[in-house]
Amino acid sequence: MGSIDSFAFITPAMMATFGIVFLILSRYQLPSAFAWGLGFLFGALGLLVSIAPLPETASALIGDVFYFISFYYYGEALLIAFRMPLYMRERLAFAVLCLLVDLYIVIGLGSLHAELLLVDISISLLLGVPLIMVAPRARRWMEWAMIIITGLVVIDTVAVVLIFNLVEQSSDQLSSFQESDYSRFSQLSTGLLSLTFALAAFGSMMVEILARYRDVAARDPLTGLLNRRGFDEVAAASLAGEGRKGAVIVTDIDLFKQVNDQVGHEAGDQVICALADQLRVDMPRGAVAARFGGEEFVVFVPGITLAEGGVLAQAIRMRFAAHDWRSIGIERQITASFGVAMVEFGEQELRAPIARADKALYAAKAAGRNRVMTEGASPGREDTTATVIELAEVGRKRRTL
Ligand code: GH3
Ligand code: MG
Ligand code: MG
Repeated sequence: MGSIDSFAFITPAMMATFGIVFLILSRYQLPSAFAWGLGFLFGALGLLVSIAPLPETASALIGDVFYFISFYYYGEALLIAFRMPLYMRERLAFAVLCLLVDLYIVIGLGSLHAELLLVDISISLLLGVPLIMVAPRARRWMEWAMIIITGLVVIDTVAVVLIFNLVEQSSDQLSSFQESDYSRFSQLSTGLLSLTFALAAFGSMMVEILARYRDVAARDPLTGLLNRRGFDEVAAASLAGEGRKGAVIVTDIDLFKQVNDQVGHEAGDQVICALADQLRVDMPRGAVAARFGGEEFVVFVPGITLAEGGVLAQAIRMRFAAHDWRSIGIERQITASFGVAMVEFGEQELRAPIARADKALYAAKAAGRNRVMTEGASPGREDTTATVIELAEVGRKRRTL
């Protein structure tokens, strides 16, 4: 009995520690940390109340409220971690309804069996339903670990109470709770599972932090497009998956220094962002676009031919040139030049095609700017393959990167 008593305090102490650590982590804009923090803190409080020397009705009701809050927030943390809608109103309404029934059972009926059955099934649903909703979204091994351990918590909660109610012949008095087999058994299983559950939550948070830092390192903060490093990673994966074929488009805004000189650096930034947005809107599905620095962008479009790359570049060039800049104090047209190169079958990386597209871009600049040059086209001759029909074709393939 003595060992169970001390164990009974270890679990809430551990859960409270995790709860506090999660609440501290939530200050660093980790979306699910706050919900995990409240989940574990209220879980710890629930356990403490159930072993505290309180009057039985008060102990049952206060403990139940804490468990409901705890599982409400566990469910919320899962939904946040998997970027799902939170259904706050529905989950809250369900919890309040169950608590009202619980109030009736505890005060009106005084039945320990009915109380534990209602509360454990309800809190299992508060966690189990979000679990079922997020499970199909699990991709990484840490997410799978989270799903499996959460599943075990739900199964444990349901199984213990069912065994206690259906198999064990135990007292139905609220006052007999602390000596009940249910209490001892659930303390043991809750202790073991809570530790695993907290570690899994902690692990998934670490994965979230790492993913965020990787993303920060791979993205250009001004436009939100990939930077050179991000492009290298994503394009390499895309190249490997597409039979190593496609087209590379590089583009550079014409006479951009003048834009900065005329309207300032900030307005210049807006022009850069507008071209990035244009790329995002006009690129077909699967394309990888990046800002390589300054006002220069590179796009890899897997699976298309050189001619299709030229048509795509023409479409972007024309839309960008048609942009109205009066809102940022620019009365004139701003244009961009484009170079397009083919990724030859068997080419293992994009460095060489990018260099060829760069050469074509240089030729486009030399030929007077505001034009598309494809590799191999004779210098000085603009590539004018884009017809209205072809543009419509490109428009149909629009995507967002
Ligand atoms: P060209 O048609 O030959 O490309 O002429 P250009 O004036 O665009 O020439 P260049 O590429 O040499 O000029 C790029 C300018 O872009 C120079 C630099 O001050 C400016 N720039 C680079 N990065 C940024 C940025 O992040 N924001 C803004 N506003 N300007 C930038
Ligand atoms: Mg330029
Ligand atoms: Mg430049």
